[in-house]
Amino acid sequence: MSGSLYIVSAPSGAGKTSLVSKLIEQDTHIMVSVSSTTRPKRDGEEDGVNYHFLETETFLEKIEHGDFLEHAEVFGNFYGTSKSSVEAQLNAGKDVILEIDWQGAQQVRKLMPEATSIFILPPSLEELQRRLNNRGTDSAEVIEKRMNEAVSEMSHYDEYDYIVINYNFEKALEELHSIFKAGRLRREVQSKAHKNMIAGLLGE
Ligand code: 5GP
Repeated sequence: MSGSLYIVSAPSGAGKTSLVSKLIEQDTHIMVSVSSTTRPKRDGEEDGVNYHFLETETFLEKIEHGDFLEHAEVFGNFYGTSKSSVEAQLNAGKDVILEIDWQGAQQVRKLMPEATSIFILPPSLEELQRRLNNRGTDSAEVIEKRMNEAVSEMSHYDEYDYIVINYNFEKALEELHSIFKAGRLRREVQSKAHKNMIAGLLGE
């Protein structure tokens, strides 16, 4: 059985990573693809868990070898999704989330038009600024740069299939989960999963 591919994008500070980690805790059929990046590790991050942290040279070699399903430069660093690990997770029947930016989303849509894409929006710019300040991981300069990048990332919201607004964490989590639950009820998914039962119902 094969799972479905989901793209989740959001500006930094919208709550994407927290929502996705809670979602996979609640639903064991969903997995997150661990991306590779050349950006420095932040406090509390673990290699192989949050990202595969790579030297630029290694990253560029992987591009050359065609190891990435998609890759992009975001905030001056490279990020990419491993083709083989996504394929393995999908083949294992898991729904796979790619937490990627709009550039990566555009590349994946071209290659896999059946992918479902979700954009998470913060309730306001003020709230986004507050969340970025509270994170305490980035300098004021980086935060200001990220606020500008956030507006540019959000301008791509209309390329996505679903929009979840994170006013309230629990509500946004429930809405996000409902997209995955509904996805499993799609005719093409159900007719594959219940092929024999449906054939039986139709007397075939
Ligand atoms: P951060 O450095 O804050 O973890 O992520 C910065 C941005 O890079 C976020 O918008 C995130 O979605 C994006 N990103 C993370 N991994 C990937 C990836 O594998 N591919 C692409 N295209 N973007 C990614």
